[in-house]
Amino acid sequence: MTKSTKDGRAKMGSRTRLVHAGRAPFENHGFVNTPIYRGSTVLYPNVEELYARRQRYVYGTKGTPTTDSLEEAWSELCGAAGTVLAPSGLSAIALAMFTVARAGGHVLVTDSAYRPTRAFCDSMLAKLGVETTYYDPLIGEGVGKLMRPNTIAIVVEAPGSQSFEMQDIPAISAIAREKGACVIMDNTWATPLFFPPHERGVDLAIEAGTKYLSGHSDLLLGLVSANAEWWPRLRETYDTMANCAGPEDVFLALRGLRTMELRLREAERQGLALANWLKARPEVSRVLHPALPDDPGHAIWKRDFSGSSGLFSIVLKPASKKAVAAMLDSLELFGLGYSWGGFESLVVPFDCAPYRTATEWKPEGPALRFSVGLENIEDLQDDLDRGFAQLRSAGD
Ligand SMILES: *Cc1c(COP(=O)(O)O)cnc(C)c1O
Repeated sequence: MTKSTKDGRAKMGSRTRLVHAGRAPFENHGFVNTPIYRGSTVLYPNVEELYARRQRYVYGTKGTPTTDSLEEAWSELCGAAGTVLAPSGLSAIALAMFTVARAGGHVLVTDSAYRPTRAFCDSMLAKLGVETTYYDPLIGEGVGKLMRPNTIAIVVEAPGSQSFEMQDIPAISAIAREKGACVIMDNTWATPLFFPPHERGVDLAIEAGTKYLSGHSDLLLGLVSANAEWWPRLRETYDTMANCAGPEDVFLALRGLRTMELRLREAERQGLALANWLKARPEVSRVLHPALPDDPGHAIWKRDFSGSSGLFSIVLKPASKKAVAAMLDSLELFGLGYSWGGFESLVVPFDCAPYRTATEWKPEGPALRFSVGLENIEDLQDDLDRGFAQLRSAGD
């Protein structure tokens, strides 16, 4: 059967690959899912084997059948040479950065990056003697002008965290390749299902598995995949740090993987429905969602991405903090909380102005980010209807 090998599945659709990748039932007595292997010690049959370390598993930090299952499946999905796991999305970002970091180096980071990525660069990388320059996410191939002889990496994220600018990743990757810098992408929003990172020129791709891979807001996990050029260095960095993910979380992520495309397609459908509904509301000034035809990033999204997820932002017409708080506090279905990609809808207010350094964030009104879940869309709209009534009656 071709379904049981990676090459056999290469011509099959992504849903078939999600179902079969990283599983070997007959290595597990026929049980469908790879079980949770817990362990530090791995025994060797004799001294010769212990010295040679030839056996597949040698110690808990170096991998188990459970972690192998997820790493193999993720590599197949990303078109990567290899993947390593980390205990959170942020630790996956740190792992990718440690893979490229060297004293005296310089990194270019999009001004729209996930905020803790900036904190990592400004504190940890600075301490290691790596300088960071932030750049306008819309710069495209113009990023070449900011590169220096010591530029070791360009960090991209599309769309941008909170603000949803799209980046021309193929153009940035082409310049980086020409000048020998590593392209690191935070691909959490699209996942490899909607943006195949390595095909588009990315060297190291990060996914916060905490979001759509989990899909249930009940675990923390990070993944870093690499192309053939960077895989040996990524694996070496991982082995040096041994910042391992927990076996239960890896098992739950494998469970999430099987239904990830169904959930993502539904998140896309619900997200677009709510985005279009919000766009027509008199209280809303703009919707920041690259899959909407009039979004400034739409052309790039359409060219490079094959779908959108359920996370987007809006800018309200001018309103006081108090009015926005009255609106958000009145919502019953939208939870107020960070993270996203779970089954329950969430909303958070945000402001990029305090931390942007290469670009200005000056929206005409308060901004909100939505993660649209799996509830009935009419119920979500009714909830927001009530919220908007509170916004209006709280006045300025
Ligand atoms: C949430 C998030 C992360 C970090 O994931 P954690 O598992 O919460 O550490 C990284 N990048 C992006 C874009 C995220 O939204």
